[in-house]
Amino acid sequence: MSETPKLSPPSPDTLDTLVRIVGESHAVRDPADMAPYLTEWRDRYQGKAAAVLKPGSTDEVSAILKCANETLTAIVPQGGNTGLVGGQIPFESGSEVVVSLERLTHVRDIDLASNTMTVEAGVVLQAAQQVAESAGRLFPLSLASEGSCQIGGVLATNAGGVAVLAYGNARDLTLGLEVVLADGRVLHGLKRLRKDNTGYDLKDLFIGSEGTLGIITAAVLRLFPRPVERVTCIAGVNELERATAFFARAYEAAGPMLTAFEILPRVGVEFVLKHADRTRDPLSAPYPWYLLFEFSSPRESGEPQAIAEALLQDGIEAGEIADAAIASSLSQAGELWRLRELMSEMQKHEGGSIKHDVSVPVALVPEFIARANQLVELMIPGARPVPFGHLGDGNIHYNVSQPVGMDKAVFLANWEALNAAVHEIVLDLDGSISAEHGIGRMKRDLLPHAKEPLALELMRTIKASFDPNGILNPGKLL
Ligand code: FAD
Repeated sequence: MSETPKLSPPSPDTLDTLVRIVGESHAVRDPADMAPYLTEWRDRYQGKAAAVLKPGSTDEVSAILKCANETLTAIVPQGGNTGLVGGQIPFESGSEVVVSLERLTHVRDIDLASNTMTVEAGVVLQAAQQVAESAGRLFPLSLASEGSCQIGGVLATNAGGVAVLAYGNARDLTLGLEVVLADGRVLHGLKRLRKDNTGYDLKDLFIGSEGTLGIITAAVLRLFPRPVERVTCIAGVNELERATAFFARAYEAAGPMLTAFEILPRVGVEFVLKHADRTRDPLSAPYPWYLLFEFSSPRESGEPQAIAEALLQDGIEAGEIADAAIASSLSQAGELWRLRELMSEMQKHEGGSIKHDVSVPVALVPEFIARANQLVELMIPGARPVPFGHLGDGNIHYNVSQPVGMDKAVFLANWEALNAAVHEIVLDLDGSISAEHGIGRMKRDLLPHAKEPLALELMRTIKASFDPNGILNPGKLL
């Protein structure tokens, strides 16, 4: 895999200076104590570091970066360490310094007139949701890792999740940022403005930059009314093309009240039914595909229920869906969501799984899945595609479980070849090879094939101008 560019390993003097900035008790130098910061949760990436620093303020982050820039010390920003592409893990050289933002946990402001909250980078996503809830508002970003991932990491990866359809991804939910630049200067951009047409939108450069352009220390996030009425539905579908037609119908009927629209394949539902407790077949007969969708309203109006009932009837009459049910209680809704939430985890019981996190235009999802399934059968006969995810966003987790009985290692040896072939189809359909998780280390070498040369050149120009010494997360993304 790729190597750290030639920056200097920090001298003992430099390390002492860096440690003094945060104080001895907030610096970790013992390899055993550093271990949790150097290993990705699936053990896919393991690195080494000269130290892990835990600054307690923006000023301390600023002093760290100033020193690192002057001494050419590589810095790896880290949030909750839940990233799936290895961006937060240092390389094996041991010469990088990890900067964990976990101590920046203040909620600086809640402004109900502007519908914003200003929180620091180390606030865990779930805690941010709770802050919003206590203020009678919704912060809609929601991911399976929300109990651990932090606002800084969420913004640095422009995270998505199940509510993107209605509320957008992290970028859409951010109005302002405070960022420490590579040389230690602080960009004070904590604006609460919905309208600010004063030239380049610099915050958008930092969002999704995966720690390569600056360290985010605080953000102004948008808040929304809390949904009080929620209706969850499941529908069985025989052909994928009909699923996209039904999505168009649902969006037309509900507009912003359509807050989730997910697709699940029968094979994935069967994995969950087989391996997870407290699950049952969602409809009386099996279907090749299921749609799991939700309508929400901030008022007790009965409107979501009325929309759902009319829509299901229309969808069945039009032949787009074959059967459907509306959850009649919160626990039934929870059961339906468990089928979706457990899909990836339950695949583990079926052996190895080769994964892709991709997006294509919604209308082309059926073509993508059909072509990718054909390819899989050609390359690894008997392998079992489990394509599921956010159909409403065109974002499919194209996971492939190994053929029954095949040796796991033999199957996983196909990872890169299958990724490359599936990504070819994605690019041919004008899609993206990373819909949610970013590029990090894992997809870095794929980027030149996936981006037009001019776009890559502009990205490199931006990187060189923001971080001329290349100290910020070297070897990641670019
Ligand atoms: P980390 O993993 O620590 O870091 C991620 C990247 O951000 C690294 O490149 C790091 O250098 C950089 N970074 C971290 N903090 C900062 C900062 N303050 N300033 C600058 N750069 C920084 N992602 C989705 O988008 N959608 C999902 O639905 C989703 N589901 C997930 C489900 C599970 C079970 C897991 C484990 C992960 C999932 N993820 C998902 C991926 C991951 O949770 C997100 O990418 C998350 O936003 C990362 O946040 P983090 O705080 O853990 O960041």
